[in-house]
Amino acid sequence: MATDLIPIATSTELATFGLDSSRFVKYAARDKIGGKEWHGPCPFCGGSDRFLVSNGRYFCRSCSKGGVLANLAEGKVILTPEERQSIHKKMLADEERMKEARSKKIAELNKSELWKIFHANLLKAPDRIKELEADGIPLKVIKEFQIGYHCGFEYYDENSKGKRERFVSPAFTFPIFRNDRCVNIRCRILSEKPLVTGKYRPIWTGLGIAFLIAEVPNQDYIIITEGEKKALNLYARGFSAIGLWGVWSWKKEWIPWFKKRYKHHIILFDGDNEGVRKAARELANRLNGTSMFLGGKIDDLLNNGKITAEQLQYLVNGVRGKPW
Ligand SMILES: [Zn+2]
Repeated sequence: MATDLIPIATSTELATFGLDSSRFVKYAARDKIGGKEWHGPCPFCGGSDRFLVSNGRYFCRSCSKGGVLANLAEGKVILTPEERQSIHKKMLADEERMKEARSKKIAELNKSELWKIFHANLLKAPDRIKELEADGIPLKVIKEFQIGYHCGFEYYDENSKGKRERFVSPAFTFPIFRNDRCVNIRCRILSEKPLVTGKYRPIWTGLGIAFLIAEVPNQDYIIITEGEKKALNLYARGFSAIGLWGVWSWKKEWIPWFKKRYKHHIILFDGDNEGVRKAARELANRLNGTSMFLGGKIDDLLNNGKITAEQLQYLVNGVRGKPW
């Protein structure tokens, strides 16, 4: 059929098939004749990225709905109640399976206590400890948070446009705990190359996104930062902080947890571009908190003496109103 070979070269062409083109991401050339595959939200089951468009056809890896693109354009894809029900059932089963796989993996991680091995490695590497200390993280905090060192962490360059490039680099490791269980370990890669592609990686991508909590007892506020290193820098100076994986890793499901736990929320992102500032304001809004931009990365500002802990404390007190 002729319609089977509609080449979709630009994301705007997707819109002609009634698809939300702004949410589609171009991916690798996948099939033998060199067609490109697009990933995006599924109009049937609502899955966020398992829906593929390639060579005039569509298919969803979540709900298995598939067919000829031209039918989408003509609106011939209305689901029967049976289809709707079976898609829903499949989605629930998949979700359950994923949950099980995740908790099995977390159980394995906790049995292996892998972060302890990395931590022991770091304690044997005085030069690396000095590096962290120069970055505002003293030995006391290294031990408390069981920060580690991995001399050959392997990772993929996700930004290499289809080509899966693999690198091996040393890395600092940050175990992330929830209720005394390790839920993932994040790496800070120590080489020049990842500066382009992001220095931080989770060791297990399938385990979901979490954040590092660095709480000083008896404080009623939390400073939310981009990354573990900044949160630990603040903690080392007596502030309570939480390190997100990044601006965009924030999940709206976390909001009730945060609100229940802290009275004041201070979002302290780098603010180096308007997108980040907008995200910080939006997050502050949702948490009834305050966003703060100090003209740089907070760890650098503190370590270079551009701002003192006392000055930051003054700003934090201002947000909290009168000290309790
Ligand atoms: Zn679907």
